[in-house]
Amino acid sequence: TPGRDDVLRVENLRKTFGGLVAADDATFGVERGTITGLIGPNGAGKSTVFDLVSGFHEPDAGRVAVDGTDVTGMAPHAIAERGLIRTFQTPRKLEGMTVREAMLVGPQGQPGESFVKLFTSPGEVGARESRNLERARKILEEFGIGHLATQPATDLSGGQMKLVELARAMLAEPEILLLDEPVAGVNPTLTKDLAAQIRRLHGAGTTFLIIEHDMDFIMDLADPIVVLNQGRVLTEGSPDAVRADDRVVDAYLGG
Ligand code: ADP
Ligand code: MG
Repeated sequence: TPGRDDVLRVENLRKTFGGLVAADDATFGVERGTITGLIGPNGAGKSTVFDLVSGFHEPDAGRVAVDGTDVTGMAPHAIAERGLIRTFQTPRKLEGMTVREAMLVGPQGQPGESFVKLFTSPGEVGARESRNLERARKILEEFGIGHLATQPATDLSGGQMKLVELARAMLAEPEILLLDEPVAGVNPTLTKDLAAQIRRLHGAGTTFLIIEHDMDFIMDLADPIVVLNQGRVLTEGSPDAVRADDRVVDAYLGG
């Protein structure tokens, strides 16, 4: 669409694993200011698309652009520095860390203090760390989990862990945040909390691309919705249009 301002644009993305085609000519954009949903049956290639756009896998073919800059083949930290941050379907283990420490190690494979330290003098690190500690405290407060800051991260419920993942991603001040199944296995109360937090962050200017199987959650939160099937974009449109599309129903039924 001419004049459309896409924070993320993927074109003709292809990725194979052995003989398996996980992404097959996938093309779509995420317009600035939207909460865009990415849905599709299990194995459709949704998480693979996240891996490709965030630099965790290199595509066999196709392009990824963030804010109009071609980032294809760049390392995860370089893409993250351009403002694209992602969470993982399965969060990493945080054994031996408090929630606050987990916040400060940064998103996995993306710039946290460990990365920043390589480029700054010891004095700067001290100042940066105390500033980040303060920001981590503030973000945890905003997420309503300030009281968990000094708890061992392994003591959290699955739902609380998802909140911490989201809070941690916000520490990187993303332009666009990619969430991979943020409410999978999360109880209804925390699911409502997560939706409210995402709306709050969206209202404050963050663009979102969200993979989610919980249809009530994603249809309520996201517009537009991109439907992926067998590595390709099957259709994209408003939640109502997608819901009414027979091809989408067929895809979920394995047709
Ligand atoms: P989704 O997130 O939509 O459920 P995935 O992107 O995880 O789907 O997977 C798409 C397909 O690619 C699946 O068949 C999956 O088994 C395969 N796949 C994903 N990652 C790998 C990998 N690292 N190695 C081999 N196969 C993979
Ligand atoms: Mg997945």
